[in-house]
Amino acid sequence: MDLTLTEAELCFQRQVRDFLAAALKPEWRGVSDVDNRTQPAIMAKWQAALAAKGWLTAGWPVVNGGLGWSPMQHHIFRQACSQARAPKISTMSIGMIGPLICAFGSPAQQEFYLPRIITGADMWCQGFSEPNAGSDLASLQTSARRDGDDYIVSGQKIWTTYAHVATQMFCLVRTVAHAERPQAGITMLLIDMKLPGITVRPIRTIDGEHHFNEVFFDDVRVPTSCRLGGEHKGWDVARALLAFERSGIADVVATRQLLGDVAVIAAGEASGDTTLLDRKDFASRLTKLDIALEALEVFEMRVMDAAERKASKDHDASMLKILGSELKQEIYALGISALGILAVAWPDDASPAHPSGAGSKLVVDALFARASSIYGGANEIQRNIVAKALLKSGFEI
Ligand SMILES: Cc1cc2nc3c(=O)[nH]c(=O)nc-3n(C[C@H](O)[C@H](O)[C@H](O)COP(=O)(O)OP(=O)(O)OC[C@H]3O[C@@H](n4cnc5c(N)ncnc54)[C@H](O)[C@@H]3O)c2cc1C
Repeated sequence: MDLTLTEAELCFQRQVRDFLAAALKPEWRGVSDVDNRTQPAIMAKWQAALAAKGWLTAGWPVVNGGLGWSPMQHHIFRQACSQARAPKISTMSIGMIGPLICAFGSPAQQEFYLPRIITGADMWCQGFSEPNAGSDLASLQTSARRDGDDYIVSGQKIWTTYAHVATQMFCLVRTVAHAERPQAGITMLLIDMKLPGITVRPIRTIDGEHHFNEVFFDDVRVPTSCRLGGEHKGWDVARALLAFERSGIADVVATRQLLGDVAVIAAGEASGDTTLLDRKDFASRLTKLDIALEALEVFEMRVMDAAERKASKDHDASMLKILGSELKQEIYALGISALGILAVAWPDDASPAHPSGAGSKLVVDALFARASSIYGGANEIQRNIVAKALLKSGFEI
């Protein structure tokens, strides 16, 4: 595999960097992913800037506003955005439900929902997990029974990120109580969050933020026109979505930035003429993580290269998800040990900041990063997927 960018790719990279330099406002840069107080508003402004350029929906099919970029162009774009510390865009709206409506939506659904996603009129959340259906998603019990032109939805979802700010939910419901295979009786509905009978209750996470929620459905009437894909065919729709969700979670470029931040913290930890970076034990941990990250970067490029040749393997996304999430957690752990006593600082409190300015932001992000090996399908489940695939293929990676 040749990792050198072609002339055309280098030219595209310059275009992206020029755009970012002109369009990214300084106050939008480097906003923590987990800062829910400022994130949604800044995300909306950044999405509007990308939409104006025509790049917000680059990954969608060309007929729906996509740009037909190659996997390498997407990679270059993501990398440049991350290096410029651009805000995130809404994965659920732009990366998940948008492409799904392009693939499975009726013309009327595409006409209604897609422009609202692009303008930011709608923000989406994902209603899959339930108290007794996470890894074993097919055992979900939220029910939808037909009543004329409506489904009557009853049950509960949990861990629903952004349900408290979302206007719409893509939601898996059970439409056959006792199907032969549990996967066979599931349907996907697009549910307006303002419908009567929906209650959203917050759950606070270890970082002190309000990311996700419990959502209760009490006989909520959802028009059948809001069904995405066929009745009882929701599992196929959901499968198309989950592979995408996992590949995004590797977050390799952002992890490279994080490693750089940790090195800056360590360089500021001086004792006499030396810094933490000069200490062999610390330098050795940092170097090991740097090497592991480099290996992951090369692996990501291999996955990208395979995608260009339409030779991707189903378990590639799972491997990226496992390696990316666990490496990120290890780097955060090293960052916290570099911060020492200042790692107890918390945003808004009067504790002294680390000279690098990292302190509390890194700690809060590190706490939230604990979740990265759980969401998008727990890493144990991803390991099962990888093991099954490798055992079948005789360990050909
Ligand atoms: C920050 C965050 C945001 C989330 N956002 C959303 C969202 O927006 N929408 C949504 O629908 N869900 C969301 N989730 C839920 C997420 O998808 C689930 O937490 C995840 O799928 C695991 O399910 P669970 O929590 O029910 O754990 P369980 O499935 O109960 O698993 C508990 C433990 O058992 C292990 N385990 C379970 N089955 C097996 C097995 N077969 N083999 C080996 N080990 C196994 C798991 O790996 C895990 O360690 C979010 C979760 C987090 C942490």
